[in-house]
Amino acid sequence: MTHSVPEIFGSMAFGDAAMKERLPKNVYRALQQTIREGTPLDPAIADAVANAMKDWALSKGATHFTHWFQPMTGITAEKHDSFLTPAGGGAALMEFSGKELIKGEPDASSFPSGGLRATFEARGYTSWDPTSYAFIKDNTLCIPTAFCSYTGEVLDKKTPLLRSMDAISHEACRVLKLFGKDCKRVTTTVGPEQEYFLINKEDYAKRRDLILTGRTLFGAPAPKGQELEDHYFGSIRPRVKAFMDDLNEELWKVGVYAKTEHNEVAPAQHEMAPIFETTNIATDHNQLTMELMRKVADRHGFVCLLHEKPFEGINGSGKHNNWSISTDTGENLLDPGKDPASNRQFLLFLTAVIKAVDEYQDLLRISVASAGNDHRLGANEAPPAILSVFVGDELGALLDAIQSGRDYASADTVKMAGASVLPPIPKDTTDRNRTSPFAFTGNKFEFRMLGSAMNIACANIMLNTAVAESLRQFADELEGAEDFASASALLIKREITAHHRILFNGNGYDASWVTEAEKRGLSNLRSTPEALPHYTDDKNVALFERHGVYTRAEMNSRQEIQLEEYAKTISIEALTMVDMIRKDILPACVAYVRELSDTAAAAQAIGVDTATEVSLARTVSAASADLLAHLTGIENALHCVPADADTAGVAAYYHDTVLAAMEVARADADKLETLLPKKLWPFPTYSDLLFYV
Ligand code: ADP
Ligand code: MG
Repeated sequence: MTHSVPEIFGSMAFGDAAMKERLPKNVYRALQQTIREGTPLDPAIADAVANAMKDWALSKGATHFTHWFQPMTGITAEKHDSFLTPAGGGAALMEFSGKELIKGEPDASSFPSGGLRATFEARGYTSWDPTSYAFIKDNTLCIPTAFCSYTGEVLDKKTPLLRSMDAISHEACRVLKLFGKDCKRVTTTVGPEQEYFLINKEDYAKRRDLILTGRTLFGAPAPKGQELEDHYFGSIRPRVKAFMDDLNEELWKVGVYAKTEHNEVAPAQHEMAPIFETTNIATDHNQLTMELMRKVADRHGFVCLLHEKPFEGINGSGKHNNWSISTDTGENLLDPGKDPASNRQFLLFLTAVIKAVDEYQDLLRISVASAGNDHRLGANEAPPAILSVFVGDELGALLDAIQSGRDYASADTVKMAGASVLPPIPKDTTDRNRTSPFAFTGNKFEFRMLGSAMNIACANIMLNTAVAESLRQFADELEGAEDFASASALLIKREITAHHRILFNGNGYDASWVTEAEKRGLSNLRSTPEALPHYTDDKNVALFERHGVYTRAEMNSRQEIQLEEYAKTISIEALTMVDMIRKDILPACVAYVRELSDTAAAAQAIGVDTATEVSLARTVSAASADLLAHLTGIENALHCVPADADTAGVAAYYHDTVLAAMEVARADADKLETLLPKKLWPFPTYSDLLFYV
């Protein structure tokens, strides 16, 4: 790196410094107010902003601009336009108007809308999100935007996220008012820790499963897995280190606070954690991070795998969504302070979160449901598919005391391990229960069920809105109370008692927890097709409609899109599997049997014993016959997709029948991999993929 970090940081983002420098004072102030308080932007200033943004972009070498948005496909979308405008006499000008900044009209017909928009009414438009900084990528000025249909229904993940942030802000401000605080805006903050795998580009190119589905559909375990636990936090391979340095620089340039990097549990697995930001910006930045990871990997001869489960038997990748709420004056509402027992405000917000997680377990589960993530949740490496909240021993004892009406003996419990030098409830004492799906970690909650490839918007939409609903109920009740102190104490006690079942400090990976959770009446939605139908349960529709986050029609459309996506994903995987078995694996097996038979015949001719060849040929031939039979099983399953079922029924069929058939065939193929000589096996193995130098 030739420049210092502060020099390059944000150099490719139209952030505060660039705005201050380039915008007229009144425009700068108006824009700042919008960014800070969420007030609508005065269209009159858009021209001035557009012009300054364009001049800044041109000074950085940009030639194009794009409205950068997050449709329901999971990736970000962009359509580039040049700044070029004819100036007469064959000359050209570079122009960019306020109108172009505020609104774009991509041809939206090919983005999934789940029935919200017929193709003949293909118009959708994107509108500028002024709270997220524009940035330059590949000579293009990228303007973060939201995406709606012409009639106003949302078609993206950004709009509902912004709506959910408004909802929680509104309700949290009401609650804070009861504490005598006049707050204009409360924001949620998120720091998403991103896991990923890096593998060699040449190996990737030889595996159609990775290319087409993002995961390996075959692969016998390598002789060495992750049992020695020598990769986690281990020293980083030089090539990987070079990738990380390059990635950090790219991220810093566009204004992402990339902070921590280390190796993860599995071989070839790594993690990047940024410093937290306001949720919509953290979401944009996480999308950008995933895109840059892929791009930078390519420059280093790697492919970055973001799939939740690229390798069977090896830890998959997740994304920890660290979440908190703060005021516009920078007060973290989930910070317990020195004396949580008498911090009524903290306890009220903590209670709001606990209640929200309990009442909307299903929504939180749904927000992390995907075909990829199904391989992780509940599979002894990620949190189970059951939601529970971990609060740690100190807070747990405090909540118990509240519930039973006892005085809280803070002196005994807050002081950790007798070390009086430690501040009370230091961050680290609450954490380290890595098995909890939703853990309080000092001054924030860490929602750990997200899959590595997901857009974090969905999880945060659910979280923000569910907590907004708790806060709304609290505000409604307490605003009318005669004695706020006693009414709030009673409310906290009542709600903690009502939602006690969601609190769990034990080992979430333990099989006994599943039984225990069932006894407590917690929901356990094991797969995506099982979870998604609950999305539109009446209580969930009521929640989102009340807070203006989704209409019922928007929810129906999202449910359709996700169920369809699930079925399509499994279908593509099944077809890829069929193709690889027929074209590569079976031919390799047949060739090996032929080679063995030829050898045996030749050996027999000169009177040499052929027991080895015959035995090997028999084993391979029998295993190949099994594989062929089970391949037919997949093909039959694919032919028999019920024609009259709805999308939920089809998704369930893909899960119960197609995926099940794939697992059987995979076992045969993996067995054959162990039987065939290396030179005949048609793809790189797990050893090749994971243990490169
Ligand atoms: P670990 O999970 O390894 O213990 P840290 O606790 O240091 O790591 O932080 C994990 C993530 O939590 C980081 O991205 C950090 O920026 C984020 N974080 C810290 N405070 C907050 C907060 N108030 N709101 C949201 N995220 C936060
Ligand atoms: Mg973490």
